[in-house]
Amino acid sequence: MANRYLREQNYIDGKWVDADSRATIDVIDPATSVRIGTVPRSGQMETRRAIAAADAAFQTWRRTTALERSQLLRKLHDLILQNQQALAELLTLEQGKPLAEATGEIRASAAYVLWFAEEARRVYGEVVPSPWADRRILVTKEPVGVVAAITPWNFPSSMLARKLAPALAAGCTVVAKPATQTPFSGLAWGVLCEEAGFPQGVVNIVTGSAGEIGDELCFSPIVRKLTFTGSTEIGKVLLAKCAATVKKVSMELGGNAPFIVFDDADIDRAVEGAITSKYRNSGQTCVCTNRFLVQSRIYDRFVEKLAAETGKLRVGPGLEPRTQQGPLIDLRAVERVEELIRDAIDKGAGIAIGGKRHALGGNFFEPTVISGAGSEMLCMKEEIFGPIAPVSRFETEEEAIARANETEFGLAAYFYTADLARAFRVMGSLKYGMVGINEGLITTVEGPFGGFKESGIGKEGGRQGIDDYIDTKYVCLGGL
Ligand code: ADP
Repeated sequence: MANRYLREQNYIDGKWVDADSRATIDVIDPATSVRIGTVPRSGQMETRRAIAAADAAFQTWRRTTALERSQLLRKLHDLILQNQQALAELLTLEQGKPLAEATGEIRASAAYVLWFAEEARRVYGEVVPSPWADRRILVTKEPVGVVAAITPWNFPSSMLARKLAPALAAGCTVVAKPATQTPFSGLAWGVLCEEAGFPQGVVNIVTGSAGEIGDELCFSPIVRKLTFTGSTEIGKVLLAKCAATVKKVSMELGGNAPFIVFDDADIDRAVEGAITSKYRNSGQTCVCTNRFLVQSRIYDRFVEKLAAETGKLRVGPGLEPRTQQGPLIDLRAVERVEELIRDAIDKGAGIAIGGKRHALGGNFFEPTVISGAGSEMLCMKEEIFGPIAPVSRFETEEEAIARANETEFGLAAYFYTADLARAFRVMGSLKYGMVGINEGLITTVEGPFGGFKESGIGKEGGRQGIDDYIDTKYVCLGGL
């Protein structure tokens, strides 16, 4: 498929370049297992040059006005929308999600860019009342400097959008490393930034060895901030490495989202929310419901309805217009889902629907509902990242809250109730950074996205989303 956003080179200092060694990595279409193209297998040296380019560009970029940066970001926003079809097709091709979801992601990327184009002009300092008659206290805001961004394969465009946009809005320059499975949607940002007219070196994108590129980004004293979205496991490794240079860090890590349905809830609405929350991107999002906790009295009805709706999902290649569930990212992901199902069955759970590889073969898996799930099962404890929905029974509100919180994660939680007092009680008791009440899909640029506990540090989106890219400077002006 000819796509002008498909680039097979790094974007460093405004130029499209190969790896020094000319070595490449194949990029595979998860729906067909066919090679789409290649990207450079870069390492330390390419990353070092990208950092140097970002550092040089920062010296002038930081002095641009907020209005200039805002206007460039608006142009970038317009370009994304004008080319959303090509960008969405590229995304589906390398990631697998249905084209409608890919288009939604590209629009979300545009929305982040527009939001931060607006926020760029609202980074205010302060003049604080001084305790001294002859001195003034000023608080000013500055961009932190060169930002490193490492992003995952599940949202290869929008995860970069919510790092790039606030960084550029704040006056920072960026070196980005997209996920190895989905580098083209990352590299497409290079094409877009070039077309929008961002000066060379302001945005740099390097593909290749995660370890080598990651180390260079973490240990470089020039890079002043690392923003990462990915697994908690790798996040912890990167955090430790960033300690050496005391970098600012933002971490969007794993989740284990509970979805609680109380017996006073509107069950049909809960099932509808459950389907979107669970099966978006075939369950491969960090805010996807991981475990359903359903109150005893409505448990059987909920399982039955959820299984019935799950059975209606049309599985197929993402580029086919009727598809609602694409393939998983790779065979490893399929094997992992199988392992979780096996573990649940061994420990006494049942399969309400699905439970095996899809007849289409390859990376396709049947959307699955597991009934009778218990806290001791791996699918309740670990992040699933696949289309399986374990459902567990509870008796009381206290039990539901305690079980929802019995995890090291704290990203998103959902619950359904018609009782206002309960809504406030439960909302206040959930140790999660984001809560959906009677809603299963809550992510939007206006809301601050981010987790508690081991799910992360910092917020992306919202008014707060630019804070992590800004240093606050206190100035005492004396002798007045
Ligand atoms: P996922 O399970 O979503 O693939 P990962 O945490 O493995 O999550 O990957 C997220 C991003 O982190 C990807 O861009 C990946 O290439 C990168 N990554 C993986 N391992 C490392 C590492 N050791 N150092 C730096 N980046 C890494």
